[in-house]
Amino acid sequence: MNTFQDLGLNEDLLKAITDLGFTKPSEVQEKSIPILLEGETDLVALAQTGTGKTAAFGFPMLQKINIDSRTTQGLILSPTRELCLQITNEMKNYGKYCKGLNVVAVYGGSSITDQAREIKRGAQIIVATPGRIKDMISRRLVDISKIDYAVLDEADEMLNMGFFEDITDILSNTPKEKSTWLFSATMPKEVSIIAKKFMNSPQEITVGNKNESTNQVSHEYYLVNARDRYSALKRLADTNPDIFSVIFCRTKRDTQKVAEQLIEDGYSAGALHGDLSQNQRDLVMNSFRKKQIQMLVATDVAARGIDVDDITHVINYQLPDEPEIYTHRSGRTGRAGKTGISMVIVSKSEVRKIKGIERIIKKQFEKKEIPDGMEICE
Ligand code: ADP
Ligand code: MG
Repeated sequence: MNTFQDLGLNEDLLKAITDLGFTKPSEVQEKSIPILLEGETDLVALAQTGTGKTAAFGFPMLQKINIDSRTTQGLILSPTRELCLQITNEMKNYGKYCKGLNVVAVYGGSSITDQAREIKRGAQIIVATPGRIKDMISRRLVDISKIDYAVLDEADEMLNMGFFEDITDILSNTPKEKSTWLFSATMPKEVSIIAKKFMNSPQEITVGNKNESTNQVSHEYYLVNARDRYSALKRLADTNPDIFSVIFCRTKRDTQKVAEQLIEDGYSAGALHGDLSQNQRDLVMNSFRKKQIQMLVATDVAARGIDVDDITHVINYQLPDEPEIYTHRSGRTGRAGKTGISMVIVSKSEVRKIKGIERIIKKQFEKKEIPDGMEICE
């Protein structure tokens, strides 16, 4: 196992790391730091949230910039002002023993003149949201024409938020001779476009969610009015007559209700939740395993870990509170090398949760329409 010392970090950074209480590098740090320290290279690093990406680019940048110079050498772009502030604080923490270091945060909703003044005093590193830095560039309040390092942090998120053109614009104001480091949880098309356009044969590292990569599941979501949830479910069942599916609800009550309603409407369904006796649960699981029922409506707790072959669809009748739970749900299908589909029925008020899930599963959802007869809300 590598230590931070093995990765080639200098004394000032190692001291800060000790203060922070980081005992060993995370996987993304272990893979990125040596690459970034070694030469001038472009890098695409894919790792899900919470894996320590900030330090993965932060330490190398702090070690590589020339702190004796006061020119801006590093630019870190981040999607939101909260993240921008968070990264700035972390960089200051990481660099607390780097004497003369000045890291400045640049983001909207706060005085542009104050930020410009701070930069003018000499900031080796600027952490910025795309909108604000673009504004500052056009007003000549900042000069990024001599930077050596550009980081696109949470690149998928930035592009999701519609910053494609801003990023293009910002990067075209930076010198060609620089290193670009792109960090992202997922690799949607826009991210690869940016990578192709602005990066020079980047090295690539992926920190794996190993279960997901062997799992052949495609993810779809259907945006409906909340009151049409049940009829959407029926349409999905109608259009997939050979469906063999687990349908997830959030509560025991909803689970029971949906199952009863499906049975009443003539579908082959059963309920599985904690208010049933063990005997009832065994009965329903056995008939599901024997494919005597096509649709098992279940709570997360009751269906945790169930391993039934050949499940064709997982339907998220309601999304779970935690995006991680989605992984457990969708993992019920696409097992043993087979393909599967995980469908999500969402109302407008929940559709933003899809992004959080995409970040966790490192895959994109396809937005689909409920086949005819449904009023779709846009
Ligand atoms: P990401 O950008 O991948 O979502 P962050 O860089 O925000 O992740 O790090 C997530 C959390 O993990 C932070 O609180 C950070 O301080 C902590 N962290 C980062 N690297 C390490 C490490 N090597 N050991 C312990 N904690 C770490
Ligand atoms: Mg991050």
